[in-house]
Amino acid sequence: MPTFIPYGRQRIDDDDIRAVVEVLRSDWITTGPAVDRFERLLSETAGAAHAVAVSSGTAALHAAVFALGIGPGDEVIVPAMTFAASANCVVYQGGTPVFCDVLPGTLCVDPEDAARRITPRTKALVAVDFAGQPCDYGRLRALAREGGLALVADACHSLGAEYGGKRAGSLGDLNAFSFHPVKNITTGEGGAVLTDDAESARRMRCFRNHGIDTDQRERAERGTWYYEMRALGYNYRITDFQCALGASQLAKLPAWLGRRREIARRYDRAFADEPAVKPLDSAPGVLHAYHLYVVRVDAGGAGAGRAAFFSALRERGIGVNVHYLPVHLHPYYRRRYGTGPGLCPVAEAAYERILSLPLHPGMSDADVERVIGAVRGAREEFTAGRRRGA
Ligand SMILES: *Cc1c(COP(=O)(O)O)cnc(C)c1O
Repeated sequence: MPTFIPYGRQRIDDDDIRAVVEVLRSDWITTGPAVDRFERLLSETAGAAHAVAVSSGTAALHAAVFALGIGPGDEVIVPAMTFAASANCVVYQGGTPVFCDVLPGTLCVDPEDAARRITPRTKALVAVDFAGQPCDYGRLRALAREGGLALVADACHSLGAEYGGKRAGSLGDLNAFSFHPVKNITTGEGGAVLTDDAESARRMRCFRNHGIDTDQRERAERGTWYYEMRALGYNYRITDFQCALGASQLAKLPAWLGRRREIARRYDRAFADEPAVKPLDSAPGVLHAYHLYVVRVDAGGAGAGRAAFFSALRERGIGVNVHYLPVHLHPYYRRRYGTGPGLCPVAEAAYERILSLPLHPGMSDADVERVIGAVRGAREEFTAGRRRGA
């Protein structure tokens, strides 16, 4: 039985473990100096003035929506092709997510469709750097400026990516990263918001700590017990040992991105003349972080639809996945907002065909060849009629 190759997986080396253990033996295991250090390293990596580390990418998005002061009656435009958290963060604060469509080639937000969904109530636009490829920030910035909207970058896929020479984490007004194990670096669970705006950063530090104006360490340093809760916040703090892991992982990000891009290039070459699948486009002028490698199954060329092709690859030990069911098709959104098919036709059509192939820096060349061989093997099995593809 061949080993299973997951679509994404963390890499934890001995030096990562040493860094975590060192902090576990120290005085501060949460809200301590390792959090500050990780935030400093993140802001250097992303080229943004402030980083606020939190307990997940979802918490990062929620903090961003809070910092913008979004509430009941406010609309936020969110692309349909994303993880549900990109829209949920708006709902948490009582705002209304308004779904917009994506571009068929990249599955990033379609700026023209986003423009059509702006109303007098629109306060912000969430840009999702789908699969690790930055959106068209030139167009989105112009749109945000004209409409007086805030631009939130859901950069959970794109740590290490660049657009027009600027790094992910500095492309939106507020930029959210996730450090879940499948993302480009991990802290187990974790996330961060990056911004150049000092006031937003201050608000988010308060938000991650129940809305309280000082943290435990600041009070210890000042020799006081007194604090005030100024807004309704949450416990979205991240621990020092998670941040120690994150800092250690961040040092390896350039090498890991190099490996991700190398694997993507190998797939690109192999699939250029493969009739079963068509990779997503990569736009000119961007440096792609390749969190995901997404292809569209061509039912004609593959001799099978996506569902049958998915099963054939899984049987071969290839951990293919589907990213994502468009958010407006989830039962929660259908029920609560009356969304449904027809709202974002490009995302809906893409959903029927997409498949994420394994891509992570721990994959060997042999693993990559196994994925390519499995795609060919499955296509041959279907087209030769040895297996039914319907
Ligand atoms: C992973 C992810 C999130 C949420 O991050 P968590 O750390 O899992 O909470 C949000 N948006 C996108 C696009 C993601 O991929």
